[in-house]
Amino acid sequence: MSESVLVVGAGIGGLCTALSLAPTGRAITILERDQAPPSHDPDVTFLDWHRQGAGHIRQSHAFLARLRGIIKASHPGLLAKLKDMGARDLTFEMMLSDIQRQSYQPVPLDEDLTIITSRRTTLEMAMREYVETLANVTIRSGFFVRRLVTREHAGGIVEVVGVSGEESGNPVDLTADIIVDASGKSGFLIEQLMEEGANIKEEIESAGILYYTRHYRLLPGVEEPSRRDNPPPNGDLGYIKFGVFPGDNGCFSITVAIPEVEIELRKAVLNPDRFHAITLQMPGLEPWTNAKRSEPRGKVHGMGDLLSRWRDIVVDGVPATRNYFPLGDTLIRTNPLYGRGCSFAAVSAECLREVLDETNDPVARQIAYHKRLTAELRPYYLNQRAQDRSAIKRAKRALTPGYKKSWRTRLLEGFFEDGVAIAVRYDISLLREAMRGFHMLEHPNKWLSRPRNLAKVLFYWARGKKRNAPAYPPKPGPDREELMRILAIDPQADVMRLAQEERVAA
Ligand SMILES: Cc1cc2nc3c(=O)[nH]c(=O)nc-3n(C[C@H](O)[C@H](O)[C@H](O)COP(=O)(O)OP(=O)(O)OC[C@H]3O[C@@H](n4cnc5c(N)ncnc54)[C@H](O)[C@@H]3O)c2cc1C
Repeated sequence: MSESVLVVGAGIGGLCTALSLAPTGRAITILERDQAPPSHDPDVTFLDWHRQGAGHIRQSHAFLARLRGIIKASHPGLLAKLKDMGARDLTFEMMLSDIQRQSYQPVPLDEDLTIITSRRTTLEMAMREYVETLANVTIRSGFFVRRLVTREHAGGIVEVVGVSGEESGNPVDLTADIIVDASGKSGFLIEQLMEEGANIKEEIESAGILYYTRHYRLLPGVEEPSRRDNPPPNGDLGYIKFGVFPGDNGCFSITVAIPEVEIELRKAVLNPDRFHAITLQMPGLEPWTNAKRSEPRGKVHGMGDLLSRWRDIVVDGVPATRNYFPLGDTLIRTNPLYGRGCSFAAVSAECLREVLDETNDPVARQIAYHKRLTAELRPYYLNQRAQDRSAIKRAKRALTPGYKKSWRTRLLEGFFEDGVAIAVRYDISLLREAMRGFHMLEHPNKWLSRPRNLAKVLFYWARGKKRNAPAYPPKPGPDREELMRILAIDPQADVMRLAQEERVAA
């Protein structure tokens, strides 16, 4: 008889689990606390889908090529459905600089470097409607899982045998062979297991930024601005980062990320008028948000509590649990800036299928799952965390009067800003390789460790700024003090607050 699988959560991780396991013939039941989308219409769903369990549903989302590739290989019907609902392809060609466009010759592999982007409500609704058509998958909406049903196994290992919860107000207990916990970033079930003694190891630290998103709609009959004639629609000024996410059905969203330490700017950006005013100051955003192109819709959606968090369910070779497989944000959380969370969830679901098919032994399954996740995802996690740490330092430096960079910092910044960033704007094959790391198709640092690629970077770096001038993108926006002045914020307020905090800490 085929195994039964209970999946907690019908967010991206739960739906990816269904996509991955459904072809194996297992009987899959997804339990979701929130109700189903209210409509098949993406606009109605965007406005009215109440998602208490996924507070980030109205934040900008994009699926990297790794996730797109998984969908394309196993469920091409879903890719078609996403397109039908209006989800957009951001192709490799769209990432090229003006210099590169002049000589670009597409190669077949470029198609594998495509991002899918849309309103997340639309992405999720398309996935969910597709998953509902799979023969051996059932989604039970309005089912709140309160607890995992467990029993203690030899050696302090906690065995999970089912769930206990409420469905439409009635208590319900369910059992299954496999329990997948895809309850997301606020999922508390894994904490129950820790309280019961499961030796789950956790590392956690702040990602150092907050996210703010506002949605826009193109005016009737108006097209999106061309990428050829305008500055890049994304940029990083240190004290603020921003990007445009093209969406379905004439919509797009703008997301700005602001360092934790910029408290005054964080407050200001929540005001819709000031958010809009910021977009008009950024040369890459203004062509999208000016009054002839589009109109803003609704409030600014802010999102804090952004963490890097890694949990190990096997420590020193000993599994903490049996029959329990967490994935998605409940297992690994990363800074949304890298756009990798959904791909992490999808890759985990693939790893899960592989280990469940490989062996029936519960201990071997837990160990193999952990090993695979570590090999597949840990390098990206560590790479991102290192970048977050240096961005946090950079944001603090911007608020430290008279700060002088060490020669090492200047050298490293020079290498990345005047070497790497410029080389990938000249050399198309180099950009292709760099994008493979970005899209999680190979280790994020691998492309740069290839001697031929490093030599190219060093060549461009050594040529100097003057000869490389055509490859430098225009400045993405005003300096910190200038933007603060435009927004009528005192630029010194956070400088003084930080200085005071550091005095107290010392
Ligand atoms: C601001 C922001 C922007 C992001 N942008 C991107 C991006 O561009 N690209 C990208 O790849 N990733 C992005 N991410 C990350 C991505 O959203 C997550 O990694 C992804 O949603 C994880 O999927 P999940 O299934 O673990 O959690 P979710 O998608 O949050 O789903 C969890 C589900 O579990 C349900 N649930 C929770 N508890 C229970 C319970 N007890 N009983 C029943 N149901 C329950 C919830 O209702 C929810 O539906 C972003 C994240 C944030 C915060």
